[in-house]
Amino acid sequence: MSNETQQNGLNAAASSEAKAAEISEAKAGESSDPKAGETSKANIGEIAEAEASDDELLGACGGSEAPRTVMDVLRLPGVDRMYAVQPIPWCPHLEQVEPLDGRRLNCRAPCLDCDETDENWICLVCYKIYCSRFKNEHMLYHGLESEHRIVLSYSDLSVWCYACDNYIDNEITYPMKNSAHRSKFGEDLPC
Ligand SMILES: [Zn+2]
Ligand SMILES: [Zn+2]
Ligand SMILES: [Zn+2]
Repeated sequence: MSNETQQNGLNAAASSEAKAAEISEAKAGESSDPKAGETSKANIGEIAEAEASDDELLGACGGSEAPRTVMDVLRLPGVDRMYAVQPIPWCPHLEQVEPLDGRRLNCRAPCLDCDETDENWICLVCYKIYCSRFKNEHMLYHGLESEHRIVLSYSDLSVWCYACDNYIDNEITYPMKNSAHRSKFGEDLPC
């Protein structure tokens, strides 16, 4: 009887030892499995990359670079709210504009096509004068035919770009505005 008990005790001890061995093997497997380690490192790498690209995007939206396109200008802080109401400060078509070069603008000059004298526009590329889209649309046609984009209004001295569909307020056009203002009101534009 006692022998049997001893035997059982040994068995029990043996089996618990075996269990302990299993557990420690499992633990060893967890910490030393090279594949498991690689996977978790790879995950961390992916997360870090994702964070980095978020930072890059934020940097791009922050407008740290100089604007190069009209869309860049429109992305500048506050410009979206002014869109279509306030002029944009720059557009790529300003490169077409020819300097005033001693010309004196005459706000009463007629449209070259229909002799209209009201609300005309002058092309700031070739200095031809045509009527507005509210008259016979001759400046609109001139813009389409010539691809001259930048025009100055003789009615309110605003500058419009046909390509960008926007008013432009850039100092390159100030001499022309000033000359038109002198013709219209007999004095320079107020500073
Ligand atoms: Zn023109
Ligand atoms: Zn006309
Ligand atoms: Zn433009």
